[in-house]
Amino acid sequence: MAQAGTILFLPGDGIGPEIMEQVKRVIGWLAARGIEIAVEEDLVGGAAYDRHGTPLTEETLDKARRIGTVMFGAVGGPQYDDLPFEKKPERGLLRLRKELGLFANLRPAIVFPALADASSLKRELVEGLDILILRELTGGVYFGEPRGIEELPDGEKRAVDTQVYTSPEIRRIARVAFELARQRRGRVTSVEKANVMYTGVLWREVVQEVHDAEFPDVALGHMYADNCAMQLVRQPKQFDVIVTDNLFGDLLSDAAAMLTGSLGMLPSASLGAPAADGRRKALYEPVHGSAPDIAGQDKANPLACILSFAMLLRYSLDLGAEADRLERAVAAVLEKGYRTPDIAQPGTTLVGTSGMGDRLLAELDASVA
Ligand code: NAD
Repeated sequence: MAQAGTILFLPGDGIGPEIMEQVKRVIGWLAARGIEIAVEEDLVGGAAYDRHGTPLTEETLDKARRIGTVMFGAVGGPQYDDLPFEKKPERGLLRLRKELGLFANLRPAIVFPALADASSLKRELVEGLDILILRELTGGVYFGEPRGIEELPDGEKRAVDTQVYTSPEIRRIARVAFELARQRRGRVTSVEKANVMYTGVLWREVVQEVHDAEFPDVALGHMYADNCAMQLVRQPKQFDVIVTDNLFGDLLSDAAAMLTGSLGMLPSASLGAPAADGRRKALYEPVHGSAPDIAGQDKANPLACILSFAMLLRYSLDLGAEADRLERAVAAVLEKGYRTPDIAQPGTTLVGTSGMGDRLLAELDASVA
C-alpha cells in the first residue's frame, strides 16, 4: 500500500467532529483503494479547554509542527463565551496559524452548476465559477506599527494604523500565487492600489520581478483593488488566481464567497514557508464556524470540510487526481439533488450529515467502477 503521508486531525467543537467524521470515511475509502493516509488525532478549542484548561496544549502544538499538515474542523460555542481572552477556543486556532507561520490564506470560490441559483448573481455569470483568492495573512495594516488611539491636547482623539510590507513578505506570497496558478489555469491577477499607496507600488514591483525571474510561463496581470471588487461582481469568471494583501484580501475573499451563496460549501487553506523537503506547513479548514445551533443534530453540511480535505490532498499530499475525483463526486451528489438543510431547494432530496457522506462514498465508488 502506498503511504501518502501523515496528517493531524483536530475536529474541535460543535459540528466540527460530525463533519470531520465524513472526512474520515473518505480517508477510509482511499485506504481501501491502496492510498493510505496516517491520521493522528487531538483536541483543540473548547474540547481541549474542557480536558486540559487551555484551547491548545504545547503537546498538540508540537505534534502540529512535527506532522506539518493539519485538518481542522471548527471551534467555539456559547459555553465558552465568558472565558478570558487567552482561554477562548478561537485562540487555539489563531495560535496554530501563528506558530506554524501560515502567511498564505487560500480561499477558493467555486460555484457548482447545481447550486448556481443560490448565488446573488445571475446563473450565467457564476455557473462553473472556479477562482482562488490568495490573501497575505500575517502582514499589512492589521499588524503594522505604530498603531493605536491617542488623546490629543485639545481632548480629541487620533487613531493610527500602519500599512507596511517588506519585499521578502511580498516575494513569498507572490511565489505561492504563481505555484498555485501552475496547478490551475496559469493566470495570476495581482491586486493593490499602486495609484495611491506606496505599499501598492512596492507590491506591484516585487510581484512583477518574481514573475519575470521565476515564473515567466504564468500569465500576470495587475489590477487596482477597487476595480477588482467591481470586476468580481461584474464578470467573476475572468479570474483564476487573485493575489492580494491582508486588508484587500479580507474584503475580496468575503465578496467572492458570496458569489457561491452558501457558508456550508466554502473551503479554505493556510500555507507556510517551504521546509527543506519543499513541503509547506499547512492547515485546512472550512470557512464556517462550529454552528452550535445545529450541532449534534445530523444537520451540518460536511461539504466545506470535504472540499478543504480535497485541497489537502492536492497541496500537501500531491494527490491531485484524488482531489479532482473528490470534487467531481461532490458535484455529482449535488447534481443528483441531494442537499443538507442549509442548501435545500424545492424539489431536492433532504439528507443529513452522514447521509451526505453516504452519497459521496457512493459517487466515489461509481468513479472507479
Ligand atoms: P457559524 O459559521 O458557526 O454559523 C453561522 C450560521 O451558519 C449558523 O446558523 C449555522 O448553523 C450555519 N452554518 C455554519 N456552518 C454550517 C454547515 N456546515 N452546515 C449548515 N449550516 C452551517 O458562525 P457563528 O454562529 O457566528 O459562530 C458560532 C461559533 O463558531 C462561535 O463560537 C464562533 O466564535 C465560532 N467560529 C469559529 C470559526 C472557526 O473555527 N474557524 C469560524 C467562525 C466562527
